[in-house]
Amino acid sequence: MRVIEMTSQPAVAGDRNTVGGWPVLDAGQPWPECTCGRRMALFFQIDVPDDVAAFGGEHLLVFQCPVHNEAAFGPSQLPERYWEMPLGGNTTAFWRILRHRGDVVAAAADETLQPLRLVLREAGPDDDWEFSVGGEPDWIQGPEEHTCACGAAMEFLAQVPENFGFPKRAEAPRQPDTFDSGAYGLFLGNMVYLLACPRRCDPAAAWPVNQN
Ligand SMILES: [Zn+2]
Ligand SMILES: [Zn+2]
Repeated sequence: MRVIEMTSQPAVAGDRNTVGGWPVLDAGQPWPECTCGRRMALFFQIDVPDDVAAFGGEHLLVFQCPVHNEAAFGPSQLPERYWEMPLGGNTTAFWRILRHRGDVVAAAADETLQPLRLVLREAGPDDDWEFSVGGEPDWIQGPEEHTCACGAAMEFLAQVPENFGFPKRAEAPRQPDTFDSGAYGLFLGNMVYLLACPRRCDPAAAWPVNQN
């Protein structure tokens, strides 16, 4: 497991481990939009370390609509193209998790979050409940399993702790239903366990398990 640490260093175009900033996309891959039509905010992106089982070497990006902030709920067997349909009572498909091996730097930076560099470091014995990638999930309500629409059992990739705030730009509005007026949170501040499809049936084949 690697702990993901947020620094106070501004991210620049081409940085691959960031909060906000310039998303690194695959060739031809558009910047994701919510079904409400808004461009999603880039919460973070990282290069998954090579030794992370199933996903090492991929570039991971996590987006959420700047306006739509809900919890994610879905069936254990996920339906076709589950990432672009509202599920579990949500009114919009407001999040997107992408994985790929491309290197196309978007022309513009994210307008919502402060562009900050992230650093990944090896976890120590005291590093439970951290913002992290790889290793085993720290389930707070017991394990939750999902099967991708393609039939593959989804595997754990990364974790975001409860009420983890991603600092917003000064000019950005306050996030709806936030726990922190100076920051944006994913999925109402729920603990997020990112599961992803090891078959890579689609760059967006990933699911955010929420628990609290
Ligand atoms: Zn939206
Ligand atoms: Zn799949």
